[in-house]
Amino acid sequence: MNLILLFDEDFIDNDRVRLGGRRARHVRAVHGAQIGDELRVGRLNAKLGRGVVTALTDDSVEMTVTLDRPPPAPLPVAVLLALPRPKSLKRVLHAVATMGVKRVVLLNTWRVEKSFWNSPLLQPDALSEPLILGLEQARDTVLPEVTLRRRFKPFVEDESAALSAGTRKLLAHPAATSPCPHNVDCAVTLAIGPEGGFIGYEIELLTSYGFEPVSLGDRPLRVEQAVPALLGRLF
Ligand code: SAM
Repeated sequence: MNLILLFDEDFIDNDRVRLGGRRARHVRAVHGAQIGDELRVGRLNAKLGRGVVTALTDDSVEMTVTLDRPPPAPLPVAVLLALPRPKSLKRVLHAVATMGVKRVVLLNTWRVEKSFWNSPLLQPDALSEPLILGLEQARDTVLPEVTLRRRFKPFVEDESAALSAGTRKLLAHPAATSPCPHNVDCAVTLAIGPEGGFIGYEIELLTSYGFEPVSLGDRPLRVEQAVPALLGRLF
């Protein structure tokens, strides 16, 4: 935890917070904090700053906080991600939040296993857990927006143009003949396939909406490897 992320309910006054649970245990056990120590803090969807420990009990920590710095710039990318299996999804959400992605659409495609849509991980609270851990890792405060789209064709036909307007549209596909560009100087909308990859029809439809198929090479990577590799290449 490189940042103690603060939520509205933590504030007991304008500049005072009281934390319990996981964060309080971390501050005590990992930081070994004492009264008067200064810690990096940030308020969810707001500024970064520092907190000075004013009180400690077995299960709570109080701090006076000064929030005076903006969070880091977001990565100019929206990720359209074919819904992966829950274990991978958790890892991918953590990775995208850490790397500064602020928009994720979890999308159904032909090869997404239908049962994945019933995962409890898709409940809002469960979805935000790996995102929050990613923000704490990256010293960021801005929670990525994650939306679920269970129908591929209507999403592409009715929504993808508005979502990707003004961006370069890329479709990650190991067999593509064009290499994935690197150090792009524009915003990107990046489509990433499921475990079995996109089917031909999906590639054709996305291509007809302006998505360029690009590859990182012949080796098919797992989704949780492909996402950071693609983001690292692009930005
Ligand atoms: N057998 C599948 C195929 O050949 O498409 C592999 C799918 S891979 C596990 C899941 C997704 O990660 C792919 O659909 C693609 O979007 C992305 N991906 C994985 N390896 C890639 C690579 N070498 N180049 C581009 N994208 C890749």
